[in-house]
Amino acid sequence: MRSFRNQDRFLVCLITAAGIIVATEEQRNPGWCFDNSFTHLPEVFFSYTKPEPVKHAVNVLFNDDLANDLGLDADFLRTLGAQVFSGNEIPAGAVPIAQAYAGHQFGHFTNLGDGRAVLLGEHVTPTNRRVDIQLKGSGHTSYSRSGDGRAVLGPMVREYIISEGMHSLGIPSTRSLAVTATGENVLRNLPLPGAILTRVAESHIRIGTFQYAAALGDKNNLCQLLNYTVGRHYPDLPNSPDLPFTFFQAVLDKQARLVAHWMLVGFVHGVLNTDNVSIAGETIDYGPCAFLDVYHPETVFSSIDSRGRYSFEKQPVMTQWNLARLAESLLLACPGEQDKAVEKFVSILDTFSERYEKYYLLGTNAKLGLQCQEKEDAALYSDLLNIMKCSQADFSSTFVGLSQVLEDRNADSVLLKMPNFNHWEQRWRVRLSHESSSLLEIAKRMRTVNPVIIPRNLKVEEALAEAESGNTELVQRLLSVLHAPFSETLENRLYRKGAPLGSAPYCTFCGT
Ligand code: AMP
Ligand code: MG
Repeated sequence: MRSFRNQDRFLVCLITAAGIIVATEEQRNPGWCFDNSFTHLPEVFFSYTKPEPVKHAVNVLFNDDLANDLGLDADFLRTLGAQVFSGNEIPAGAVPIAQAYAGHQFGHFTNLGDGRAVLLGEHVTPTNRRVDIQLKGSGHTSYSRSGDGRAVLGPMVREYIISEGMHSLGIPSTRSLAVTATGENVLRNLPLPGAILTRVAESHIRIGTFQYAAALGDKNNLCQLLNYTVGRHYPDLPNSPDLPFTFFQAVLDKQARLVAHWMLVGFVHGVLNTDNVSIAGETIDYGPCAFLDVYHPETVFSSIDSRGRYSFEKQPVMTQWNLARLAESLLLACPGEQDKAVEKFVSILDTFSERYEKYYLLGTNAKLGLQCQEKEDAALYSDLLNIMKCSQADFSSTFVGLSQVLEDRNADSVLLKMPNFNHWEQRWRVRLSHESSSLLEIAKRMRTVNPVIIPRNLKVEEALAEAESGNTELVQRLLSVLHAPFSETLENRLYRKGAPLGSAPYCTFCGT
């Protein structure tokens, strides 16, 4: 398949060099190389579903860098790609489907499925990476229930901004290739402009996909899903009767790492339901998510999370809860006695805290400039968090401020005004003296892990409001700033600050 396509490209080059103007293969196919391996699974896992055409497709945002990374022709897709990204045209080789899954939503099990998305297929890049290309907001599917299958421009632009911001921070995430306006209104409380997000993911297999398979009660289906998922995301796992356990352990490790990443940058996902947990370990389904301004461990942004189930501090424990649901779903695939299998899963699940703490400590130490590990390091970090909480300190700025304190102790830093900071600083400096680098070197190192720029809530809202009124200039500026989160530049000066103290609590709504 791959070499065949390369031959096509070569042919096109020859024709072009000879000066003959034709509708080239390159123009007809901007580099798509679809494979549809998910459709080889039993048909209970999906339904063949075409996107519903839209009135007037225009790309509002397009991700040139991502297109290039995927081996796609960015110049072509930036404008003409709107036909494919809107679902008006199906690219050659794509076999659109909606995927079935279930999930625990705020603790309650429900059958779900892609109610407003279709998977065009898996694009195989020139470097042989396989990624899902999904259209989110593409119309009704057999899983739509009473929903309209559509999405609104604002939330799709929001997902684009935050997911790309996460990627720039080095956090595994689904990516956004385009937001395409449909030229149609979508009825929510008011009629709102409709849009489709083209989402790129390692896959869209979720914990909920396994829950769905287990709920069907067919061992063969579940084993096929397991083997497929292992082949795609954990190909190094040996094929043995222990596969359900080794797979579970591998997923658990990725999730422990992912949630540690979130906790290190102050990210609150907002809807950590099991259907929003990717088996590949990417952050997925950006709805009412947001980043902390003022540090408080119990922060919740989502308007629907009134009980704080998915608050900032609860994310690790809720991830472990979600993993327990995955273990339950895998029981059916286990050989031998169920009690023994339960015991084995529980013993793996019990390693979650240890694994999470390991990743978290590596990260917190890096944030404090510590390369070696000592016994009191975790306490040093959590004591700083307590000081920050009491002072209502801005999460990200505090860590950048630590580098400034090392670079110039006499500079006017808000950190020095935080009650108990001076005492903490003395402890920190004693600890830093055990490191082999100079303070300036340490400060520099810290600047490579403590972002100056995160998607600030105020800036996101400001950019979204403008995008909703038809101008994406502020979104483009924000995206360009988010692209380099670790450098202080003139351009990003106005994007570094959190919400002014005393601002009303930030509230987010489910992205519909
Ligand atoms: P989400 O909150 O985006 O994770 O979605 C939860 C479930 O609701 C998924 O099954 C979605 O496909 C479905 N859903 C969300 N919005 C819509 C919509 N407008 N129409 C149909 N289904 C939807
Ligand atoms: Mg979801």
